[in-house]
Amino acid sequence: GLPDAGAEAQVRADDRAHVFHSWSAQALIDPLPIAAGEGSTFWDYQGNAYLDFSSQLVNLNLGHQHPDLVAAIQQQAGRLATIQPSMANDVRGELARRIAEVAPGDLDKVFFTNGGADANEYAVRMARAVTGRRKVLSMYRSYHGGTATAISLTGDPRRWANEPSDGSVAHFFGPYEYRSSWGATTPEQETERALAHLEQVIVLEGANTIAAIILETIVGTNGVLVPPPGYLEGVRALADEYGIVYIADEVMVGFGRVGEWFAVNHFGVVPDLITFAKGVNSGYAPLGGVVISQRIAAHFDTVAFMGGLTYSGHPLACAPGVATFEVFERDGILERVRDLGERVVGPRLREIAAKHPSVGEVRGLGLFWAIELVKDAETREPLVPFNAAGADAAPMGAVATTCKKAGLWPFVHFNRLHVAPPLVISEEELVRGLDLIDEALTVADSYVV
Ligand code: PLP
Repeated sequence: GLPDAGAEAQVRADDRAHVFHSWSAQALIDPLPIAAGEGSTFWDYQGNAYLDFSSQLVNLNLGHQHPDLVAAIQQQAGRLATIQPSMANDVRGELARRIAEVAPGDLDKVFFTNGGADANEYAVRMARAVTGRRKVLSMYRSYHGGTATAISLTGDPRRWANEPSDGSVAHFFGPYEYRSSWGATTPEQETERALAHLEQVIVLEGANTIAAIILETIVGTNGVLVPPPGYLEGVRALADEYGIVYIADEVMVGFGRVGEWFAVNHFGVVPDLITFAKGVNSGYAPLGGVVISQRIAAHFDTVAFMGGLTYSGHPLACAPGVATFEVFERDGILERVRDLGERVVGPRLREIAAKHPSVGEVRGLGLFWAIELVKDAETREPLVPFNAAGADAAPMGAVATTCKKAGLWPFVHFNRLHVAPPLVISEEELVRGLDLIDEALTVADSYVV
């Protein structure tokens, strides 16, 4: 039974009067009241169902109301709802151990945070303490969070209004094969030129001023940019050569999104620090963290780490994290993500690309894909301009509206549609969602010149 229309009116009224929303001009938004969620679907108060192809903010990896995660929180709440971080706690310790077991190389300690931005803040702080250097290099076309240093690291327009907050950041270009910054025409060339560029930035910024290089293992919101073969190994080698800490931001791609516990495992690369959040407990309670290599952890054996949070390793957030490991192992989540990505999503998206003139490229891994839309496949002019808003963004808005009317909740960013459903989505739902995208792209085609 769904709540009645009166309930919806109250939700809307409270929200409009009192809730201040992220990244928005408050009078120009109209947040949809949500009545319920189950698995890969959620419902509004009118009874409209939406198949969630964005996993909320690419965090709902195990779907809505997963019984194991709900039970883990309920049981923990009944046992010990909170305990401060300087105590030892069973679920906090178990989750840290289980993360260490699946993290690559010698990364075997975890500092827990409340989310992704603060995980990146603290990773940078660790790198600065260990190296005695201050500067951090990060990519254009990246998102690392909304807090002071994290927004400075961010290489997208969300940074612009927040400058300067951490002045010790310099940006570089990462690989992007479809729009190569160096005119590369093969993945090998892209890797070679992107690494040569990064080395130049290191040298020109002054290698001995650089504490860390931070990058998303696969760039998320800014395009599902899967690095070409050899690129991450090359970053690792440059970091070693110049004594720089390599931080992998896996807030979006960690915990199964691309069919591995950590995306770096897919590439066989071992960073010094990995940051995570979102999928660690599917967002059932706020949680993030930094996985720390022995070398970096050892620095803080006798020197105090100057950082902390009241809710570091909160039991109500860690309990569904432990349950996440149990569900992944019992239900073979990593295997199913790899299988669905290779067997269902990849082939279907390539079919869609061949059929629609508006599709410039499809790319991705596991259950994490982008459909990049263009006005003209020859020139690759994006369907809407970079950072388009208002009327300029209308073509993408029309595609999104078409998806929603058909019952699919899409992830839309600039001129891209991303496919990032919950990892527990059924094959039938996945196929149906891809069919709805196929239909909605007819709207995009109408803008092709
Ligand atoms: N890093 C990446 C790659 C992200 O995608 C995000 C959030 O979307 C963040 C960091 C920030 O995480 P949070 O919003 O939990 O602070």
